[in-house]
Amino acid sequence: MNLEMGTLYIVATPIGNLEDITLRALRILKEVDTILCEDTRTTKVLLNRYDIHTKTLSYNAHATDSKESNIIQMLKEGKNLALVSDAGTPCISDPGVMLVYNAKKELGTDLKVVPIPGPSALVSALSASGVSSAEFVFLGFLPHKKGRETLFKEIANSKRVMIFYESTHRIMKTLASLIEHSPSSKIVIGRELTKQFEQFVEGSPEEVLNYFTLNNDKQRGEFVVIVEPK
Ligand code: SAM
Repeated sequence: MNLEMGTLYIVATPIGNLEDITLRALRILKEVDTILCEDTRTTKVLLNRYDIHTKTLSYNAHATDSKESNIIQMLKEGKNLALVSDAGTPCISDPGVMLVYNAKKELGTDLKVVPIPGPSALVSALSASGVSSAEFVFLGFLPHKKGRETLFKEIANSKRVMIFYESTHRIMKTLASLIEHSPSSKIVIGRELTKQFEQFVEGSPEEVLNYFTLNNDKQRGEFVVIVEPK
């Protein structure tokens, strides 16, 4: 007897505000056999808020091959699984791509991988930035060392809007590099989106750096950086 294969749902979750979750996402999280979480403790906060008691299992960048094989085996046995990350859309600068790739490779076209769309910091920032979204390039996180300078040169010469993610630790360094390479570009920074201290800061790289220097409490948080072409 052939068991029907399970479905792998890629479920977007809030990037801050716990109300930002779709009805479909909540239903899927309730109905699946197991939720694969980047960090089970983070996801539990969301699950508790919505009274969801589905079993959770950790799956993150450190997942071993054997853990991945076990997950693929669960799908083979007909288990429905939901993959979530700590915030936003899984697989977008977040773990999950290898799982989807390997599961598809091993289980072939019988495997259904179903996106459950919802928040992503990239789209949230761009949507409220006032910058044209007709064409843009998303760079994810910039490399810390190798290739970093080259990328800043590419950003400076780009004819398209360039967007990337940045962390508390590197935001000032990144602004300094933008002053060096793209002094006359307009940039928009979306910070702490959907959270209590959400803000957008825009101007030349120098103006934005000055703002964060004067308001150094604002250097903390999560950032999306949007650079307009010259
Ligand atoms: N998968 C997520 C998504 O769909 O947006 C992105 C995860 S990535 C590991 C985390 C980065 O996304 C943060 O360092 C920050 O650059 C950006 N980010 C996530 N939440 C954010 C928020 N609420 N406000 C601004 N940026 C955010």
